Amino acid sequence: MRNEGRFVVDTHIHATTLYKRIAKTNKLRLGSGYIFETYDNSSLCLYDMERYGVDMGILLPSWPGTLNKMQAELVDRYPDKLRACCSDQTLRLKCAKGEAKWTIEAALEEVEAALKTGKFVGVGEFLPEDFTKGKIYGVRERLDEFRKICDLMAKYDVAVYTRTNDCRIADEYPDVPMIIMHGGYSGSGYRMGPDLIRTSSGMAANENVYLETGCWPAEYYEIPLKDPNVGATQLMWSGCDQGNCPQYNTARLGTKYIAPSGTSGIRNKWLFTPRYQTDWYGWSLFQVHKVRHMNLATQDELNLILGGNAAKIFKLPVPQPRMFPCGRPDLNGIHWEKSIPFLPAEQIQNPDTPQPYKWDDLD
Ligand SMILES: [Zn+2]
Repeated sequence: MRNEGRFVVDTHIHATTLYKRIAKTNKLRLGSGYIFETYDNSSLCLYDMERYGVDMGILLPSWPGTLNKMQAELVDRYPDKLRACCSDQTLRLKCAKGEAKWTIEAALEEVEAALKTGKFVGVGEFLPEDFTKGKIYGVRERLDEFRKICDLMAKYDVAVYTRTNDCRIADEYPDVPMIIMHGGYSGSGYRMGPDLIRTSSGMAANENVYLETGCWPAEYYEIPLKDPNVGATQLMWSGCDQGNCPQYNTARLGTKYIAPSGTSGIRNKWLFTPRYQTDWYGWSLFQVHKVRHMNLATQDELNLILGGNAAKIFKLPVPQPRMFPCGRPDLNGIHWEKSIPFLPAEQIQNPDTPQPYKWDDLD
């Protein structure tokens, strides 16, 4: 199969799902009110990656179960393929069972313990948050929690995955990469259409904010690509929600766009533990292929969207030097000089062989 780019990174993988419900909780809004048995689904995820030419993937914890330890074990097992984000999952499960009370301090303690190992590249999906039933946040309270999360991410120089970007936070923390999941909507919110992409493109006016494009039909790419404040340097491809469970029905009411799967299970209506896994890559990479057909992006730009930006943000090893465009005023804007080199030498696995001339001699 023809790959879509030089280096492809899926920035949104749940390889630890296909859950079985094991206990009901009434203390927390957690996975439809249940605690789930964790399940290592990495075999099928890695098979799909191989099949569709996805070089590396970022593991995200799954909503009702995955612990940091399990994520770290997967990264240790597949160091060339996977990196992971962490969360306050142990605390969340304890709270669900009524064994602990959630506080931002306790949550960040768990996240920091994970970051200290050096095995994680960010926090999320689902930032530390008080999910107690009936809890209603005030705006200031939640913003202050978000600030504490970003302080910690700045300390460890890692990224934040968020669904609820607030431009104030992006302004206050310009050095913390902020990735807006699903480009601003959840997979099950597919039906919300391009207006939501316009809103999140507005949020990505800040330089270090990235829109994850995985669930986007090709037509959505046009919005940020034609927005001079966003462009290809701030988009990150993903396989939508690879491995996510419970799977959801990606109905697209009110839009003309076809979805990755029409009947792949949804909440209480479909089988909770699905009997097959949606083929997210087949659909999502076809949308990237269509973007090229629609003349919306050059191959250079697609290489940034498909893997270059992720390699930079998550400090991933890449096979060769000079794979991604940099020093381009048309792509990198007024700060184009800062974009050279695109990646530091330590990330290049096969560095340049020494040349008989120096680059400086050519200027
Ligand atoms: Zn997800």
